[in-house]
Amino acid sequence: MLQFTTTEQAYPQTREAAARKLDFNEISAPFNPAEAATQSSRCSQCGVPFCQIHCPLANNIPDWLKLAAEGRLQEAYAISSATNSFPEICGRICPQDKLCEGNCVIEKGFGSVTIGAVEKYITETAFAQGWVKPIKITRESGRSIGIIGAGPAGLAAADMLRRQGHALTIYDRYDRSGGLMIYGIPNFKLDKKIVQRREKLLRDGGIKFQLNTQVGITITLDDLRKKHDAVLIATGVYKPRALGISGDTLQNIFPAMDYLTASNRKGLGDKVAAFDSGTLNANAKRVVVIGGGDTAMDCVRTAVRQGAASVTCLYRRDRANMPGSAREVKHAEQEGVVFEWLAAPAQFIGDGAVKSVEVQRMRLSAADEAGRSNVEAIAGDTYGLDADMVIQALGYDADDLPALFNAPELRASKYGTLAIDAQFMTTLPNVYAAGDIVRGASLVVWAIKDGRDAALAIHARLSVEARHVA
Ligand code: FAD
Ligand code: SF4
Ligand code: SF4
Repeated sequence: MLQFTTTEQAYPQTREAAARKLDFNEISAPFNPAEAATQSSRCSQCGVPFCQIHCPLANNIPDWLKLAAEGRLQEAYAISSATNSFPEICGRICPQDKLCEGNCVIEKGFGSVTIGAVEKYITETAFAQGWVKPIKITRESGRSIGIIGAGPAGLAAADMLRRQGHALTIYDRYDRSGGLMIYGIPNFKLDKKIVQRREKLLRDGGIKFQLNTQVGITITLDDLRKKHDAVLIATGVYKPRALGISGDTLQNIFPAMDYLTASNRKGLGDKVAAFDSGTLNANAKRVVVIGGGDTAMDCVRTAVRQGAASVTCLYRRDRANMPGSAREVKHAEQEGVVFEWLAAPAQFIGDGAVKSVEVQRMRLSAADEAGRSNVEAIAGDTYGLDADMVIQALGYDADDLPALFNAPELRASKYGTLAIDAQFMTTLPNVYAAGDIVRGASLVVWAIKDGRDAALAIHARLSVEARHVA
């Protein structure tokens, strides 16, 4: 260990932008065994590991780095998978520059340990070696739990609860499980096969999936409460925010998720009429994407791969104040995306369909309470940007679940997300909630963390009830 003084930081090789923008395959090669060991050996084994403190799952990073450096990968996997239900997914798509790696103590001066790539390497090795096995339980508990939503929060909770011997059924309105990991995040960041491999393991471990089942329409929350001892709501957030500016009802202006879902479905081999007709396909179009988060980065990079004539990203703050990962911006720039910083749409102009965006130039103003710079318009400073297609990636709010689930007793916060107590229980007895539907639009790693914690709370309660019955 401590090799950071002599060994340079290295990430796995990334395919050249010219080649990778021609397909939807993942852009990074995996580490080879020597690279993984060498990069792990750069860790200084800090007494107070800031990497671990800033990992939402509090992964025991120094320990698995040491084991990886020594080639003891089976033990490394045992430690890494003890705190993370899907380490191969986090290793790929966590914004490490804002979490573990961004807080690695050797970051300043030497470059952080490349933690995410090592986590991916350890887990992929474990899969290749057959160390990752379906859950095998010795005794069924006789208790049953229904989970609404097969995204990372629901899947992580199901994984934890099944290990305790409970019967699990996951209900999802979509035809595939995975939530935003399947229909939101593009394949070039997270190959769909990686998500489907996990789903298969969960099924092989005895977890049942009831897909194409929309709670509130196909089946009611009340039905599920009667059927199961506990219900977990993990439905995510899907109501797109709108700009509310002149011209935003023109044709060819789309919410990001409509665009990304169509692209992901196409990649999965589905027939997608709106894509095939050209409507939700960026090919040969001048595309303008509005927003500065990871969803916007996914849209611009998808448009590049669909063969857009040009792709411009408008963001009202500057690069330093972007919510998205700096790494994703760099990738997008390499792939030819043009960023217009301090630029906000003032109105959309067109005749039936959008033809251009009137862009308002902005400047930074005093910071808000959180220290983030505000922006204000520069009076009279606007310009026009031609556009055949506009994608709005402005964030998502929670749907009105009390109304959708016909459960007025289900209390929502002022943001529309579900209110829970310290044990993850909503205002309905034995109905729990986790993930984005509680936290608001967040990250996969936080959804996993919440799903795991909710599962512990559900299991604790079911165990107490079982003792009372006995
Ligand atoms: P979701 O993943 O949204 O899953 C919810 C599931 O519930 C869905 O399958 C949905 O169909 C189902 N559902 C909803 N309502 C019902 C109902 N009534 N009945 C039955 N089923 C229902 N995070 C990262 O960490 N890294 C990234 O790179 C990243 N990129 C992103 C890119 C995009 C485009 C988006 C939109 C998000 C991205 N995120 C990323 C955020 C991350 O995907 C989410 O924070 C995470 O998926 C939330 O997990 P969840 O389980 O709470 O909800
Ligand atoms: Fe880093 Fe995410 Fe892995 Fe935690 S889960 S160690 S934050 S990549
Ligand atoms: Fe190793 Fe960096 Fe974590 Fe310290 S902060 S234990 S150097 S990975």
